Amino acid sequence: MEESKSNTGNVVFYCKDCEKIVDTNKVGSKYVYTCKLCGTKNVAFGTKKSIFSFFHVQDEPEVKPVEVSKTEEVIAIPTESTEEEVAEK
Ligand SMILES: [Zn+2]
Repeated sequence: MEESKSNTGNVVFYCKDCEKIVDTNKVGSKYVYTCKLCGTKNVAFGTKKSIFSFFHVQDEPEVKPVEVSKTEEVIAIPTESTEEEVAEK
């Protein structure tokens, strides 16, 4: 399988508090982002396709619901409790 490890080209950020796609500020060197609108860390990110389907975001009319790969393409859904889990290598 081909795993796309490209940069943040196709990645979007979704604030679960604002319930929409938002701009974010990166926090430190970790994969933690804060919402520019409300400042929460409750931000999920992934490919546009995965985020849109996962959170049922209706932003572009051309996005159609696909029931093939549900949550598999979601890269990460950071929560406030991920820091300790990351320490494990
Ligand atoms: Zn927000």
